[in-house]
Amino acid sequence: MGRLDNKVALITGVGSGIGKAAALLFAQAGAVVFGVDRDEAAGQTLTSMLSSQTFRFFKADLSTEASCIQTVQQCCAAYGQIDVLYNNAGISTVEPFTQTDALSLDRMLSVNFKSVFYLCQQVIPKMQHQGGGVIINTASELAIVAQPLYAAYCASKGAVLSLTRALALEYAQDNIRINALCPGPIDTPMLQQEFDQSDDPIQSRAAGIDTMPIGRLGKPEEIAQVALFLASDAPSLMQGASIVVDGAKTIL
Ligand code: NAD
Repeated sequence: MGRLDNKVALITGVGSGIGKAAALLFAQAGAVVFGVDRDEAAGQTLTSMLSSQTFRFFKADLSTEASCIQTVQQCCAAYGQIDVLYNNAGISTVEPFTQTDALSLDRMLSVNFKSVFYLCQQVIPKMQHQGGGVIINTASELAIVAQPLYAAYCASKGAVLSLTRALALEYAQDNIRINALCPGPIDTPMLQQEFDQSDDPIQSRAAGIDTMPIGRLGKPEEIAQVALFLASDAPSLMQGASIVVDGAKTIL
């Protein structure tokens, strides 16, 4: 028996990092995964790693409301239900606050926050109709603590955390469990790209590891395991929680 047998999981950002690890793990746990990403080639790679019975890729840039609506329509057309919505897709930028222009801010909020808002808006009525479901929204340790050069990112993730709490209360009576996952530094292409933007990427990566009391960066699979637990039926009392998974970084 898999922990996600007979469940349909819509996961965003499956092309890389944490989302890819989650798609593989959820499929292994028995779910049918409807994986979404803007990166078609990455989606095809994942498709080749999984059977067509357990995985379907849908290419979408989730930065618009229309693409979020279309994504949910496509998932429902394919499977007729959505038991788990795992909002994982996200972007980061490293830039001084005074140099963050309107375009950069809009992009950050559209991908990291508004896509979560619109996908929840589309999926919740379907979960109400089904009699319940699970939503996992990806925030970050940077929704809780701060870091220079990440103002727009911190704000976008703080918004995800607030939205998660508001929805968790609003739909607590509908058997829809809504929680936020707050990863610390995880060794993915996103984080490496942040290191690469510094003058000395090797030193920057070493400094990143130094912030971790456990002495290493997290692995995408370690976040996927927590997401799997949240997606399963086990944590039935968890509602509106912010689950920090960061190797003790934020308590240092
Ligand atoms: P990643 O860059 O490795 O993967 C993100 C995936 O999302 C990519 O495949 C990308 O193509 C996709 N994506 C980005 N914008 C999209 C869009 N507009 N539409 C559709 N797909 C889009 O990143 P990751 O490190 O795996 O991050 C996953 C999530 O975890 C993000 O929300 C990120 O903010 C969050 N997070 C990551 C870290 C970390 O250290 N890696 C820490 C805290 C939170």
